[in-house]
Amino acid sequence: MSRYWSDVVHRLTPYVPGEQPVATHPVKLNANENPYPPSPRVVEAIRRELGEAGESLRRYPDPTALKLRETVAAHHGIRAEQIFVGNGSDEVLALTFQALLKHDKPLLFPDITYSFYPTYAQLFEVEYKTIPLDDSFAIHIGDYATPNGGVLLPNPNAPTGRPLPLAEIERLVARNTDSVVVIDEAYVDFGAESAIALLDRYPNLLVIQTVSKARSLAGMRVGFAFGHPALIDALNRVKDSFNSYPLDRLAQVAATASYEDDAWFRDHCAKVIASRERLAAGLTALGFEVVPSAANLLFARHEGYDAATLVLRLREREIFVRHFKAPRIDQHLRISVGTDAECEILLAALRDIFSAYIG
Ligand SMILES: *Cc1c(COP(=O)(O)O)cnc(C)c1O
Repeated sequence: MSRYWSDVVHRLTPYVPGEQPVATHPVKLNANENPYPPSPRVVEAIRRELGEAGESLRRYPDPTALKLRETVAAHHGIRAEQIFVGNGSDEVLALTFQALLKHDKPLLFPDITYSFYPTYAQLFEVEYKTIPLDDSFAIHIGDYATPNGGVLLPNPNAPTGRPLPLAEIERLVARNTDSVVVIDEAYVDFGAESAIALLDRYPNLLVIQTVSKARSLAGMRVGFAFGHPALIDALNRVKDSFNSYPLDRLAQVAATASYEDDAWFRDHCAKVIASRERLAAGLTALGFEVVPSAANLLFARHEGYDAATLVLRLREREIFVRHFKAPRIDQHLRISVGTDAECEILLAALRDIFSAYIG
């Protein structure tokens, strides 16, 4: 605290990202990062861009990331002017709050969801109302029928991993034509259906994606918004009033190369999905209740053991999972899907902890 702080800073509750541990060989299942390195083409593209002497770094990058947008447009069968690119989807979300979600009616989002949303709402002074998930953490589209200044949902939801079918998303978008519906698809490639298929029919739909999870590029910070050119124009207007070069040269070529290697992408998504199913079975066998997930994470609770205690016991073994001290979910663990070997280490540690447990 300081008297030099602005009022907004005094009032803020900043988002807390998953810990980046300093342990030598952590089993890091706390930030939904991909356990595999990216496509080798990504590394080649970065080396090529850098060259021997780093000559290209002298110059500013393309402020519109046109090559990347064209490549991603071709991948999704849409047009480059339907795509906005930002420094991670967190930044794309931040610009979306300012450009499209700040109106005189409240923004709606679920009570249990990505914890960055209320933080952005505070930062940008966007009025919001949370809509409760049901007891099985399902979203009911009918609950979003109230007048609003926008609707924001992740699909699959975070931190639960629970997906909504595309038909439900379409029902929401079709009924809510007076404001923008934003679908945050950070985890969509692990088993949900993308709303990009609806773009041509709904000018009020904005879909947000990232290369951080399914494309193993969390370290590069690249995210997208897909929508009607009028929505993209709003985002560009805010971007060009804030930071006109959000994506550096290396990030642009890395993300482009990732979209040029579809075989790598499909293969590794399938691997993570297979590991998720094995891990879910392993946790269930240990007595956990596991929420059905279409993401690279599992949200699970155990009747017999306190979640915060389990986090500490795992941490002692350099195994990191995520825990939220929030109402309704403080007995759950959010476990990112690692390699099969990492998942086995986690399951063995849990067996060990349970056998010696003193509550
Ligand atoms: C991880 C995540 C993001 C942020 O992704 P970045 O592109 O790395 O900023 C956004 N939304 C949800 C729901 C996420 O889980």
